[in-house]
Amino acid sequence: MDPEEFRRAGYAVVDWIADYWATLGQRPVTTTDPPGTVTASLPAGPPEHGEPVAAVLADLDDLIAPQLTHWQHPAFFGYFPANTSGPSVLGDLVSSGLGVQGMLWATGPAGTELETVLLDWLAELMDLPERFRSTSSGGGVIQDSASSATLVATLVALHRASGGRWRTAGVDRRYRVYASTQGHSSIEKAARITGLGTDGLRPVEVDPDTQAMCPRALRAAIADDLADGIVPAIVVATVGTTSTTAVDPLPEIGAICAEYGVWLHVDAAYAGAAAVCPELRWTHTGLRYADSYCFDPHKWLLTGFDCDAFWVADAAELVEALTVLPEYLRNAASESGAVIDYRDWQVPLGRRLRALKLWFVLRWYGAAGLRAHVRSGVALADRFATRVRADDRFEVVAPHPFALVCFRLVAGDGASAELLARVNATGRTYLTHTRVAGRYALRLAVGSPQTTSAHVDQVWQLLATTATDLLADRPG
Ligand SMILES: *Cc1c(COP(=O)(O)O)cnc(C)c1O
Repeated sequence: MDPEEFRRAGYAVVDWIADYWATLGQRPVTTTDPPGTVTASLPAGPPEHGEPVAAVLADLDDLIAPQLTHWQHPAFFGYFPANTSGPSVLGDLVSSGLGVQGMLWATGPAGTELETVLLDWLAELMDLPERFRSTSSGGGVIQDSASSATLVATLVALHRASGGRWRTAGVDRRYRVYASTQGHSSIEKAARITGLGTDGLRPVEVDPDTQAMCPRALRAAIADDLADGIVPAIVVATVGTTSTTAVDPLPEIGAICAEYGVWLHVDAAYAGAAAVCPELRWTHTGLRYADSYCFDPHKWLLTGFDCDAFWVADAAELVEALTVLPEYLRNAASESGAVIDYRDWQVPLGRRLRALKLWFVLRWYGAAGLRAHVRSGVALADRFATRVRADDRFEVVAPHPFALVCFRLVAGDGASAELLARVNATGRTYLTHTRVAGRYALRLAVGSPQTTSAHVDQVWQLLATTATDLLADRPG
């Protein structure tokens, strides 16, 4: 494909995406066809001779798009949002076109420096503690996901707690990771990957009303482990748990970590974005105790997957834990000590230029545009919660400080699960579920930039009328 062919095909692809976005609201939110439908529609092998991009676009229309779950749909309310945006897509396109592999400063100087500056910008925008800035001892880096951020934090914490010898034969010590029972599954995965195993994670009780970590239970767990000769390595606190967006109390948790010298990582994957708004920054009170922090611009900050922003308070410690320097990567810039080599800040060696899409997003929307996006989500979630509360067949089951509302039918778990199944089967919306204190609850997460009050009112109408039918159908 020469540059002129690329130009023509590229315009057609951009047109395709623009048409997709413009007609998204008219599509079913997800497919109802059975597994295997797409496989059966595709040829058994690759074409012998090349085909034009137009042929691929036609199949995209016929075979692929109808069989997707449309995460950018204005009536998609499942999981957490993974919103993207025009500027994000364009920035990513440039990154793909450049094809720069930024493992070292020397392999893409502007990419590395742009990333460092942008992470400082974000820290400023969210008023993160000074020690996370590259101008102090710390710094930020883009990871692919919050799961990777938690893995890296766990690796550095273990390195600190053991001098890099937590799995050395003959060193008979056990190390522990702590998170609330509501902590994300990636924390247990990190415990397994680092060799601690599933037992390496000690789940800490939560307050039954708020679902937030109970500091007294954390202190007791640490004291108990110390008495058994187990070394507390890291506490992962969550700002905005995946199930209900509970906020762990950082001031109390941080003080305990400081007292025992335990690494504190704060996982704010979804809710961290809210801190662009000063009125939602209360969630970060106590963040000064944290050794590391992350959030996902790819969830709620209009930046397409994948983009996790991860900061550490001590960059030297991070590099010491992760660096391995083979001869073929040696270069004068690295040896000068004047540059950042982001390969030492992550698990893989290679990395693409993710900073570009973030740069496009920050410049297109500006801080004011990002705040407006977050505020709109919070207001729409409030609007929905007000409707739920006003209907006595329903109840809201957890605080909703952000843009997620957890609710259920008072009639119970069976009725609530049935309601979710019936509503999703219409194809007109998409919600997911969780369990709160053992009881089934539906989750409605607002986040698509196309979602308006009309979409929220429509999904409420659908839930309310479906509940009427469903409760009438049920015996008793
Ligand atoms: C979504 C989520 C994660 C995982 O995010 P990825 O970026 O997909 O790895 C981790 N922690 C919390 C609290 C989350 O909500």
